[in-house]
Amino acid sequence: MNMAAVGAVVEHGGIVIHDDTSNLADLTQYAMHFCAVESCGKYTPCRIGSTRGVEVIAKIRADDTSPKQVTLLRDLCDTMMSGSLCAMGGMTPYPVLSALDHFPEDFGLSKKPPQKAA
Ligand code: SF4
Repeated sequence: MNMAAVGAVVEHGGIVIHDDTSNLADLTQYAMHFCAVESCGKYTPCRIGSTRGVEVIAKIRADDTSPKQVTLLRDLCDTMMSGSLCAMGGMTPYPVLSALDHFPEDFGLSKKPPQKAA
């Protein structure tokens, strides 16, 4: 399998396996929080993006499942991936986007991911 073609990576943390009782929204909020705590703070997309990411995920999980919030989270992830210098900020959005795409129900969203605004 071409891992890059499906957006897959094997990171420094290795492979983490969860059973089907894990809530992916909970794990992605933790990932963003971890980035916010561990960010060296040199680059705005990582420093501020991760903090805003925690807030937006929390809003979605608190029942603000409007397309505006989901689009905001996806745009935030895009900015972090393209504007962060190292893997801390650049890779944190990967599990967030993957969870949004494949387990939207864990965020309280419908199965079909919303289309990104043009
Ligand atoms: S992406 Fe890396 S270098 Fe940039 S603020 Fe985050 S931890 Fe620091």
